[in-house]
Amino acid sequence: MQAQIRIDRAALRANVLALRQLTAPAQFMAVVKANAYGHGLALVAPAIADIVDAYGVYEVSEATALRALGLTQPIHLLGAIPPQEFAAALAAEAILPCWSPGAWLRDLIQASQEHGRPAQVQLKIDSGLTRLGMAPQHAAELLATLRAQPQLVVTGAYSHLAAAEELDSRYTLEQLERFTSTVPSGSVAQRHIAASAAAMLWPQTRLDMVRCGIALYGLWPSAGSRIRMESQCRLAPVLHWSSQLVCIREVASKTTIGYGCTYRPSTDIRIGILPIGYAEGLPRALSNKGAVLIDGIVCPVIGRICMNMAIIDVSAIANPHVGQRVTLIGSDGDASISADTLAEHCDTISYEIVARLPANIPRSYCEDTLTE
Ligand SMILES: *Cc1c(COP(=O)(O)O)cnc(C)c1O
Repeated sequence: MQAQIRIDRAALRANVLALRQLTAPAQFMAVVKANAYGHGLALVAPAIADIVDAYGVYEVSEATALRALGLTQPIHLLGAIPPQEFAAALAAEAILPCWSPGAWLRDLIQASQEHGRPAQVQLKIDSGLTRLGMAPQHAAELLATLRAQPQLVVTGAYSHLAAAEELDSRYTLEQLERFTSTVPSGSVAQRHIAASAAAMLWPQTRLDMVRCGIALYGLWPSAGSRIRMESQCRLAPVLHWSSQLVCIREVASKTTIGYGCTYRPSTDIRIGILPIGYAEGLPRALSNKGAVLIDGIVCPVIGRICMNMAIIDVSAIANPHVGQRVTLIGSDGDASISADTLAEHCDTISYEIVARLPANIPRSYCEDTLTE
């Protein structure tokens, strides 16, 4: 793969500390699902091990990977766990979400018997997102069922908000009320409902723990949350994604460029070819829209992005050369391109841009590559 991702460990740690300071005394769960939002689980999780209270992941393989890295914090599984993965979940001492009695629970109890240790579970309540979770009116009964089981330890209860990042306080506070009246203070050891947006915007949602994903990585859950919170909580982007020029060519005015002949320059230009395309995580929606940085100078993406290549206009670069670094996300000199900018071009959110960066792009900490 002719691209690389560098992770700014200092920025990552500063984001955690800023968020912790804002949300204290709540405990802090670092959400590192989806390969730490594309940043690289193996780089992100150990870098903050001494300043987080728990990790949140989606599936069991991620919990297993965290344990293999030697991390000892509680690990919360946030997704639906299939029974065939119970043994691995128990071996990783992960905390499983539970939202229904029935076959799933029977299988879990059996797996924990075989494992010889009780399974840690948290009651997942649907307070209004309408995705996973037990309906509030049946939650008390389920909690009693779970508690009656010697093979289970109920470590807490949680829920997830639908519209906190949209600054919808009415719906957010309604959900909070539904959750806290279903599991009143003291009824379980730990209650949590806030992801990044709510943790920053609505102090009353912080409860015993906040679950921060996107903000850890220095990205804002929404434009509105940024405007409202920027002065109180400094976040710095953590990820730098770059590639390099593999070819430079002079192209005469009116020459068609790329698939579909969608670009014809009105003057003679110089183009550069990047060895990455949509298969390497560069969204095709950036065709004729996006831009990259070379030596701090903005170079537009021209023509359609291909599967494994992309074409840029390097006319503004004095001496472009093969091997020259091209920044796709991150800063270069005084210029920078954020995941949010890419997301806007693609009509999506920064979450999707970073989470889809392929796992096989080599990743390292910035300070390891400063000499290049
Ligand atoms: C992904 C996730 C989070 C983190 O959300 P951010 O908006 O990235 O902070 C928190 N809780 C649950 C249940 C999640 O699935």
